[in-house]
Amino acid sequence: MFAELAVNFCILFTFSVLSYWPFQDRSRFSIPFPRLHPLMIGGLAGAVGIFLVEMSISVTPDLVLDARLAVVVISGVFGGPAAPLISGLMTGLYRLASTGLSVVSVISGMNVMLIGTAAAILFLRFGSTFRSAAAIYSLAVVEQVLVIALLLPDGAPFAGTVLLFAAYSAVCFLVVSFTLQELSLHFLKLADYERKSKTDDLTGLNNLRTYRELSGDILQESDGPVALLLADIDRFKQVNDLYGHQAGDRVLQQLAIRLNDAARPFGGIVFRNGGEEFPVLLPRAGKQEAAILAEKIRAEVAGAPFAAGPGMPLPVTVSLGTAVFPDDASGPEALYRRADEALYAAKEGGRNRTVMWTPRPVSEIKT
Ligand code: GH3
Ligand code: MG
Ligand code: MG
Repeated sequence: MFAELAVNFCILFTFSVLSYWPFQDRSRFSIPFPRLHPLMIGGLAGAVGIFLVEMSISVTPDLVLDARLAVVVISGVFGGPAAPLISGLMTGLYRLASTGLSVVSVISGMNVMLIGTAAAILFLRFGSTFRSAAAIYSLAVVEQVLVIALLLPDGAPFAGTVLLFAAYSAVCFLVVSFTLQELSLHFLKLADYERKSKTDDLTGLNNLRTYRELSGDILQESDGPVALLLADIDRFKQVNDLYGHQAGDRVLQQLAIRLNDAARPFGGIVFRNGGEEFPVLLPRAGKQEAAILAEKIRAEVAGAPFAAGPGMPLPVTVSLGTAVFPDDASGPEALYRRADEALYAAKEGGRNRTVMWTPRPVSEIKT
């Protein structure tokens, strides 16, 4: 008996983890057709339920024990209300036929379908969470105990069977739901760390590390020119000195929004390199588009003051340097260097201006 329970539990544990893993770890697996995920999860849970019924422990010739309820109920956490409905239906139909048609098999089978349907309604009402699943599962176990009481033949050890069923159900649910919960938490944290490692905390923009990864890929895959704009706030140190570091941070955040708004129609990707310098990558853009966007950014920043704090308007200007791949540079590092040289020239030329990199001398397009 113990060995059979252990096998049944191992099937539940192994296949629950294997089935839900790809749906939990969304940063590694992207399963197509998200709308069909509830059906997929319900179908997978139904298959595991059938496997469990197949490997169940016989109490009487047609009364069997297994962990099918746990798999049906837990499917609702990952697949929403549709999943227990489907898995309950599949498992119940299989149970109905598995030991041949009899009063016990029909009642047992119908009972799984009933629990699947009730679970679907309760998940719909209370949300697809592990908490709801624990409550639904407890109700399902109590209901199942009543069904066992109804089905046990006279003289069979009712208390022993019920105790065994309740203890086994509790272990199944606690261990599997705890493991799946831990996995979900782990994957969520991992996704959060990944997002944080790619973005700049203050502005939410892509960081320099993402710039390095993306610029290489974009240049390699591009079948046309790619422009890089480097925008740098003029005399930003003075903003910090006069208004404080917090006001400086607010300016950086507002500039990030303005840059994003300006670059979006051009398909530009905005980054922050950690200081007050913001690279903007423009895939499929040549010198002309780069000049237009750079000037647009420069004019929009200079055109409306920023807010250093409530009721504290603060005029800000930026200087920009631009370079274009493959005309000015043959790779991402050289492209950055060229744009930086142009930016340096813009600063030298008096700031609040755009300079496009040329072999020499650099040509300023507007002051
Ligand atoms: P230039 O016109 O030549 O670019 O002058 P600048 O003052 O903008 O440039 P400089 O490199 O001398 O100073 C950059 C300043 O940016 C210094 C630093 O304190 C500030 N800074 C860098 N990162 C942050 C940040 O995250 N928050 C704030 N508030 N300031 C920052
Ligand atoms: Mg600066
Ligand atoms: Mg700078």
